[in-house]
Amino acid sequence: MKAKEILNKIKDKISFKLVSISMIVLLGLSLLILAFVKAPIFKGTKAKNQPFYAEKENPESQESQFHLEIATQINKTVEQILAKNSTNNATGSIGSASTDPTSGYPETILQCTRDGNDLLVLVNKQYQLPATYAPADLVPTSNSGIRVTQGYLYSRNVLINDLSELNSAAQAAGIDIAVLSAYRSYETQQSTYNYWVSTLGQAEADRVSARAGHSQHQLGTALDFTTSEIGDALGTQFANTQAGIWLAENAWKYGFVIAYPYGYESTTGYSYEPWHFRYIGKENAASWKNSSQILETWLQGQN
Ligand SMILES: [Zn+2]
Repeated sequence: MKAKEILNKIKDKISFKLVSISMIVLLGLSLLILAFVKAPIFKGTKAKNQPFYAEKENPESQESQFHLEIATQINKTVEQILAKNSTNNATGSIGSASTDPTSGYPETILQCTRDGNDLLVLVNKQYQLPATYAPADLVPTSNSGIRVTQGYLYSRNVLINDLSELNSAAQAAGIDIAVLSAYRSYETQQSTYNYWVSTLGQAEADRVSARAGHSQHQLGTALDFTTSEIGDALGTQFANTQAGIWLAENAWKYGFVIAYPYGYESTTGYSYEPWHFRYIGKENAASWKNSSQILETWLQGQN
């Protein structure tokens, strides 16, 4: 009898284990399906072959609320431009031992080693532009003839001719490209970042949005592109659009370089942004292309 009881107990344990394991497997499968259904790349169009990237709702798609502020801030900040930033003793790089792994920001924030007007100024999580820096030659981005998704977009005049050429070349290839976001002042960036901290929490906000002074958009030479193929939306689905593919191949010829490429988050400090390009001028872009480096690494060598 004792042997039988023991046998029954073992049987019970085995069947209990089997049930438990099945439940866990089922739960795991459900979560996996749920995660895929909720993944943003499945919400956009033309998401086939897209590198899976579990990005949350993109902050820049909702930044239009800040664009009205930009027009008034331009007038305010243009008057406050500093002539030269003379801090040249910066050392260290992103990813150094003192970097906070959660935010990607190092303990010591340094001032940019080049002036904000310099096309090669290094701006990242370590190097910060002065709060008072604003470009002096801001003009409507639409002066280039490129389609803009809203009226209050400004860029530096220095890039307008090359942007115009880029747009003409794209149009000749039958490709629609529009600009969704351009210059952002220090104050606008502060509002944008604070908004995302309150929405996503600081860690996630630091992955997708720059703190004030650390955004390339303050330079007036960073542009976020979109296209009618995805209804002028902004997100990683841009990478698989005709416009996204064309820009990835050709933008450098007109002086525009992708700043946050896929797979380099640990170097750039930012998640993949196939829509975000920075203008460094045609000659510089040609040198960059020859280097086979990502923009961040190449710029570090120039600063
Ligand atoms: Zn951007």
